Amino acid sequence: MSNDRSPRRGVLLIVASPSGAGKTSLCRRLMADHAGLELSISMTTRGIRPGEVDGRDYHFVDREAFQRLIDEDAFLEWADVHGNLYGSPRAPIDRALAEGRDVLFDIDWQGAREVARKCPEDAVRVFILPPSLEELKRRLVTRSQDSMDVIERRVTNAKGEIEHADEFDYVFVNDDFDRSYAELAHIYHAERSRRFRNLWVEAYRQALLNEAV
Ligand code: GDP
Ligand code: ADP
Ligand code: 5GP
Repeated sequence: MSNDRSPRRGVLLIVASPSGAGKTSLCRRLMADHAGLELSISMTTRGIRPGEVDGRDYHFVDREAFQRLIDEDAFLEWADVHGNLYGSPRAPIDRALAEGRDVLFDIDWQGAREVARKCPEDAVRVFILPPSLEELKRRLVTRSQDSMDVIERRVTNAKGEIEHADEFDYVFVNDDFDRSYAELAHIYHAERSRRFRNLWVEAYRQALLNEAV
């Protein structure tokens, strides 16, 4: 019997959370463990942080360039988050979907809503809650990549984001990192196995039914 597991429909796996809840750490680990998963590298007008690499963590651009891309309809979605513009470039996502590959998004609730509206069958939305707002602040301070006023703003904005968690398909609390990672990986694995995404299954099933015994 054929080992060909194509054609398939890719998953658009969207992970959102308040800043500091741990989504970037969880997404990095998921990427490291799944060679076939592609990260949607967002474009942003935010300044680059120490340790970040242009083209790996984000594509860093100024507002003028970002606006030009909006005008060209180059984003699947874009949003103003904490006063900066962030967007998911459309071309790599279209390419991955055409090839049946899965794409991971680390985006905010506005972007999650927009991707789910545009791609209702493909989008799977996961929201990560912090154990508490106090712990959220502690993690942002420990990460030590944002100034104190930026941290204060992000903690203040956290409730506004948590309000939207009820729009998501899956929600969990990132307390213990390894346990949370297992939860995210299980969600991804289950979603990947859904029959409607595995278009090759029908031919395989027919071949089984026609197999002489
Ligand atoms: P973090 O929250 O500390 O990871 O900070 P980031 O600067 O990495 O992200 C800022 C916000 O923008 C977060 O809420 C992200 O989820 C969101 N974000 C990142 N990329 C995208 C994107 O492509 N589209 C949308 N809509 N939001 C994004
Ligand atoms: P986000 O992308 O949501 O802003 P990060 O992944 O950057 O969050 O995590 C924020 C900080 O919290 C980082 O310093 C990270 O190492 C730490 N962190 C993430 N998950 C946990 C966890 N389960 N327990 C303790 N610290 C965590
Ligand atoms: P940070 O500035 O800390 O990297 O990101 C702040 C927030 O912006 C995070 O919640 C992150 O997920 C979100 N974000 C990053 N890229 C995008 C994007 O392309 N679109 C949207 N909507 N949000 C994004």
